[in-house]
Amino acid sequence: MKKILWFRHDLRLEDNHALNKACENGEVLPIYIFDKNYWELETSSSFHLKFIQDSLKVLNQDFKEKFNSQLYIFYGDTLEIFKELISKNQFANIYSNQIFRNQYTLNLDEKCKILFKEKNIIWKQEQQFGIQLENRKRNFWSTHWNNYIELKPLKADANCKFIKIDIPSLEKIKTKEIDGSNIQKGGRREALSLLQSFLKQRSENYQKEMSSPITGEIACSRLSPHITYGTISLNEINFAIKNTKKENMSFNKIKSLRSFKSRLAWHCHFIQKIYDEPEIEWQNMNRAYDGIRENSFNLEYHQAWKIGLTGYPFIDACMRYLKANGWINFRMRAMLVSFASYQLWLDWKKTSKHMAKLFTDYEPGIHYSQFQMQSGTTGINTIRIYNPIKQSTDQDPDGSFIKKWVPELNKVPGKLVHQPWKLTYLEQKDLDLEIGKHYPHPIVDHHSSSKIARDKIWKIKKTDEAKFNAQKILQKHASAKSRR
Ligand SMILES: Cc1cc2nc3c(=O)[nH]c(=O)nc-3n(C[C@H](O)[C@H](O)[C@H](O)COP(=O)(O)OP(=O)(O)OC[C@H]3O[C@@H](n4cnc5c(N)ncnc54)[C@H](O)[C@@H]3O)c2cc1C
Repeated sequence: MKKILWFRHDLRLEDNHALNKACENGEVLPIYIFDKNYWELETSSSFHLKFIQDSLKVLNQDFKEKFNSQLYIFYGDTLEIFKELISKNQFANIYSNQIFRNQYTLNLDEKCKILFKEKNIIWKQEQQFGIQLENRKRNFWSTHWNNYIELKPLKADANCKFIKIDIPSLEKIKTKEIDGSNIQKGGRREALSLLQSFLKQRSENYQKEMSSPITGEIACSRLSPHITYGTISLNEINFAIKNTKKENMSFNKIKSLRSFKSRLAWHCHFIQKIYDEPEIEWQNMNRAYDGIRENSFNLEYHQAWKIGLTGYPFIDACMRYLKANGWINFRMRAMLVSFASYQLWLDWKKTSKHMAKLFTDYEPGIHYSQFQMQSGTTGINTIRIYNPIKQSTDQDPDGSFIKKWVPELNKVPGKLVHQPWKLTYLEQKDLDLEIGKHYPHPIVDHHSSSKIARDKIWKIKKTDEAKFNAQKILQKHASAKSRR
């Protein structure tokens, strides 16, 4: 019996349930498809592509070493590729690990289901996030997830038999090119090495240091793109945490690992959300907020925010860092979004698309939920408007981060680097820096713009409609504890 093993967001051999199931009997054709239309979506970018290409290279090497076989990689229309494969071979089954991404992949999966049914092929999908697909029981979510995460990771079935075929060489994949010099490298070896260095040393001050972009770069696990593309599984990470020696472990580290593990559950909680309600990708979770920002999108503000020229040095430094690295820590993501949504009053539906391209770890379930939370459109979360100057002085007290990423300001002395518009005319002359020419004046006054935004959001939050919807949202999604 011949089967197709369709790799998607599970670019590993180990702890891959679809692989082991496919290998139970018969011969397997392992494939990966770069879906042409997916790569042309507004949210796709060369950051994601590069990470996947790195990961596929390693996966292919692993195939060679372990099975003396290879992975067959295609680029084009997914349905056409399947039709062609099916027309040439008698496949009985297709195996994959289920993905929960965006509307595009939902539609694609529906079309695949129809095609496979027409061809009498059974598509078997395995779970990899421990979410509730049927029998949704909100109060049992944690129990269900805890049972799932404790499953022992599977070893790749060593007796698997793979089919060999001829395929054309791959064309260049078209997607939005972004010029980032330092994005994370993909591949399983990188994932394992990050996990090991995090559990051995870097997690020591994880909790204390995760909020600053300076310390967060090292103190955070940096596993997010690996989790998104599945070069490592959540169960493998959980097992590695469990196997970390507890003797002589500092209290800091124990707390850090606990807090890290809870984030793995958050990850799945947000995937559950987009599975339950795919609409969070394109509409306000709480419909009482419809129309609040949609008709007042300021293109100039959007452009300044995207290129890191808002006149708020810390905001600009974070945006430029993100563009160069394809990653920034949680707090700074939240601040960048809050600044766009409140002070600049930009609609999250547009800003989220831009950020999706920049986050190498783009995971729609987390991404859109967080965008809505940081923009006040859920009606169930605290309205949090970050003060960009307070964040700047708290997270980058000596301004070294700003000076690195906004070099226009590298001669500005002391605390003035956080608010360069306060430099006097003579000071500017002395520094050879003219605010308004070499670096912009603040694009908005953050005090007044924050107040206006807060009033607008509260006006809606207090309405009966917003409160009624918030209750429904709580019943549908929220767990007992509030999420970040
Ligand atoms: C506006 C906004 C958009 C975001 N978009 C994404 C996204 O597209 N993809 C993504 O993986 N994360 C996203 N996050 C969550 C978070 O910022 C990243 O997961 C984290 O910064 C990744 O770095 P790390 O792996 O070093 O994190 P660590 O702190 O080491 O966390 C380990 C893992 O836990 C999960 N995790 C951590 N924080 C969260 C969280 N708040 N919610 C859910 N899961 C979490 C991730 O899988 C992460 O890799 C977003 C946050 C915000 C505020």
